[in-house]
Amino acid sequence: MNHKIEKLQPGLYFVATPIGTARDITLRALDLLASADVLAAEDTRSMKRLLEIHGVPLGDRPLISYHDHSGAGARAKLLAHLEAGRSVAYASEAGTPLIADPGYHLSKDAAEAGYLVTSAPGPSAIVTALTLAGLPTDAFFFAGFLPNAHKARLSALQALAEVPGTLVFYESPRRIADMLEDAATALGGTRQAAVARELTKKFEEVLRGSLSELHTVAQDRTFKGECVVLVDRARGEAAGEDDLQAALSQALESMSVRDAAETVAKAYGVNKRKIYGMALKLQDK
Ligand code: SAM
Repeated sequence: MNHKIEKLQPGLYFVATPIGTARDITLRALDLLASADVLAAEDTRSMKRLLEIHGVPLGDRPLISYHDHSGAGARAKLLAHLEAGRSVAYASEAGTPLIADPGYHLSKDAAEAGYLVTSAPGPSAIVTALTLAGLPTDAFFFAGFLPNAHKARLSALQALAEVPGTLVFYESPRRIADMLEDAATALGGTRQAAVARELTKKFEEVLRGSLSELHTVAQDRTFKGECVVLVDRARGEAAGEDDLQAALSQALESMSVRDAAETVAKAYGVNKRKIYGMALKLQDK
């Protein structure tokens, strides 16, 4: 199929690319990649592979490497192409640019300079995971990647305890078990959750269960590939004594009695004084 558009309007085109299966690319994305005067990519090798798979010739068009850390110099180069009245198509390595991927500064600067900035939407792991997780999608909060260090991750999770929507995280497969453990501590082990792995790829898998259940599963297996973790909002369900004791024991491993009581009380929406008393007793044991 010929994807070449005769007269593509000058401007910056953010093009979404597949998150796994190569055929998950839109016809418009291919039109833009075939027609833009200049191509720019987070990873030029992935871009070349994508063009090759879909039979889109690069020809003698420039293919420029760009990510937000490339700095003002690389951005200025792309803005200069826009200034010269050219069309620039930008794609990140996979999925939608700007979503846990580069493009934000480029988008902002180009819009502020008055150039056309538009997008060819397509796959993103957030939406794909939400579609499969079995959790409510009426409201969701994308929290991106959590910090790697245990304490910082726990604080980041605690700050999300009261968000009234499904929480969506991108996570490294190596850290799934630790992340689920911290999420159970900060948000309460009874919350429903899901781990969505290798979406749109051969080994696509979705695990569903409570945070505690998923943590137990994650301790006994490894995860490979790319993962999204989703967690339901707080439901204010009455937590059992066992849940509270388990959460407190876990929290006391890395926190003071006061912090553990506060965290668990918030995670389960229960009285802080009662939990503090339980924590003191547990510590005495
Ligand atoms: N821009 C991309 C998007 O729109 O989803 C995300 C890029 S971010 C650098 C990469 C992370 O997205 C991975 O570490 C993983 O958490 C998630 N991800 C990307 N592709 C995925 C897939 N096929 N299955 C599950 N998670 C995926």
